[in-house]
Amino acid sequence: MIEVANLSKRFDTLTVLKDINLSVRAKEIVVLLGPSGSGKSTLLRCLNGLEEADAGSIRVGSVLLDSSMTGSAKKNAIRALRGLTGMVFQSFNLFPHLTALENVITAPVTVKNMPKPQAIELAESLLSKVGLAEKKHEYPSRLSGGQQQRVAIARALAMQPQIMLFDEPTSALDPELTGEVLLVMRQLAEEGMTMIVVTHEMKFAQEVANRVIFMSEGIIQEEGAPEHFFAQPQTERARKFLRQMA
Ligand code: ATP
Ligand code: MG
Repeated sequence: MIEVANLSKRFDTLTVLKDINLSVRAKEIVVLLGPSGSGKSTLLRCLNGLEEADAGSIRVGSVLLDSSMTGSAKKNAIRALRGLTGMVFQSFNLFPHLTALENVITAPVTVKNMPKPQAIELAESLLSKVGLAEKKHEYPSRLSGGQQQRVAIARALAMQPQIMLFDEPTSALDPELTGEVLLVMRQLAEEGMTMIVVTHEMKFAQEVANRVIFMSEGIIQEEGAPEHFFAQPQTERARKFLRQMA
């Protein structure tokens, strides 16, 4: 489903991703862990076409984006990559002047030219799925953080992505609102969505992930099944990270 090969990314003189190789199977739930600044967000942003790599390639489904591409081939690959990957950020990034429903229908209508009645039907079913059917006409300012993040998830799902990327989706939430967002993510996982999740929620990682990837300093330091990674981390860096998390 996803193949990342020899991906490198620099910001000026700082190399943030160093020759990353990664494959993710369809329906796999991968939790990406690592200290601050290790390159987790940058990796997700590259997968979503928000950041351009300096070297290497990304294949998602049948779409290939290679850093050697230029011009319209590159533009088309980036656009296709965006269409295949839904992204949810720490800060919910909803459009404040649009209702929950309007937030969810915007991309299907404007990017996919979906007829509005069909987009509304889709949005209503997605808002029900995230438990917000009765909030569809509310503006973001009248929703809790957890509700806003669930609208953001529905909005990403409205583009019918093949993969969902989550970048610390609960880090900005009060603890009592975290559970409702994690529950929606668990449901998605159970339905067979392919997901890469950056999170500090170790319980979620242990219970939902098929695989944990630990990054530090732009490198995948180790990866494995959560039961192995948490019980027996192989590197001192990972042991230190887990001690700090505990
Ligand atoms: P955190 O856990 O704090 O979110 P992270 O693992 O997601 O960290 P990244 O956001 O990917 O880390 O950042 C990796 C490195 O790249 C950091 O040193 C960061 O300062 C740097 N960086 C990220 N984005 C930019 C940018 N647009 N310009 C310059 N440097 C950047
Ligand atoms: Mg980050």
